[in-house]
Amino acid sequence: HRRVVLVRRPPGEPAESDFRVEEAPVPEPKHGEVLVRVIYLSLDPYQRGRMRDAASYAAAVGLNEVMTGGTVGEVVASHNASFKVGDIVEDRLGWQEYAIGSGPSLRKVDPSIAPISTANGVLGMPGMTAYFGLLDVGQPKAGETIVVSAASGAVGQVVGQIGKIMGCRVVGIAGGARKCAFVKDELGFDACLDYKAEKDLDAALRTACPNGIDVYFDNVGGEISDAVLRNINFFGRVALCGSISQYNATTPPMGPRLLGTFVGKRVRAQGFIVTDFAERYGPARRQMGEWVRSGRIKYREDIVEGIDKAPRAFIGMLRGENFGKMLVKVG
Ligand code: NDP
Repeated sequence: HRRVVLVRRPPGEPAESDFRVEEAPVPEPKHGEVLVRVIYLSLDPYQRGRMRDAASYAAAVGLNEVMTGGTVGEVVASHNASFKVGDIVEDRLGWQEYAIGSGPSLRKVDPSIAPISTANGVLGMPGMTAYFGLLDVGQPKAGETIVVSAASGAVGQVVGQIGKIMGCRVVGIAGGARKCAFVKDELGFDACLDYKAEKDLDAALRTACPNGIDVYFDNVGGEISDAVLRNINFFGRVALCGSISQYNATTPPMGPRLLGTFVGKRVRAQGFIVTDFAERYGPARRQMGEWVRSGRIKYREDIVEGIDKAPRAFIGMLRGENFGKMLVKVG
């Protein structure tokens, strides 16, 4: 079977030569383990952080080790009484065609709720990130205005739709007219600003948010966040989810100093990691499943085929070339 290993830690933007696609024997499951044939691999921005040998909330991928990544697959051999051959399971099994699953992180997926790819997306880690980041960290109230960056992406598209269900005005920020049209016309956001085309994002935000911004769900950091935070309201909340505009930066750029504004305006900014909420995934996933089944939450996926395409697709995602949740169809 094929797998993708990390061979070099890029200082800036990754290149395909930082990865190697290699052949390896299919592993044998031992007692308590299952053998999983991977069907979908999830490509996520956090994987850029795992390529760095720096202190973080999770360990780095070692050189010549399989890249880390969420997966959905089928059990093809089982030495674990809780799983049988044919079960669909989700776990972080990495960029490979076959993998051993064991331990408490292996989760059975019910294929009757939605297509199994959603276990890596709207009903998986990105969906949980949107749900808890918006509702617990952002704490939106009906009638308030939410702004979300990377609005057409895996997390952003869900954030905005939950915001609409909560009765808020929702404004997205995304790169390009196609993404903005999708966010507004198909997902039902009130507006979406194309940061690549807007000459004055500050002014565009003031027009799109006539009552100011109460909740900012920040996926990108950098200049986009500077513009949003200049327009944050008194008692505003900032859910710090990610800073993708900085992930390939060799040295982080200096930004304007906005924290003084937070003092006078009593703004609360809080970073979070989705796993902080792991004990509450069950009910959240049931709620999200209902919203997906009833059509209140739509989702868009961007799927490439073949594990050998993972490095290219990953590099592209960090550049904004993906349109929706980035997945690799492996088998
Ligand atoms: P997306 O599906 O949104 O894909 C990444 C998107 O980021 C691109 O499509 C692009 O959209 C945007 N982007 C890339 N470069 C830039 C840039 N320089 N400036 C602005 N936007 C840029 O990814 P996810 O939804 O999976 O992740 C979104 C964010 O959420 C990331 O920061 C990620 O790290 C974070 N995250 C955090 C978690 C947590 O627990 N805290 C868990 C999961 C995700 P566009 O074309 O619109 O620019």
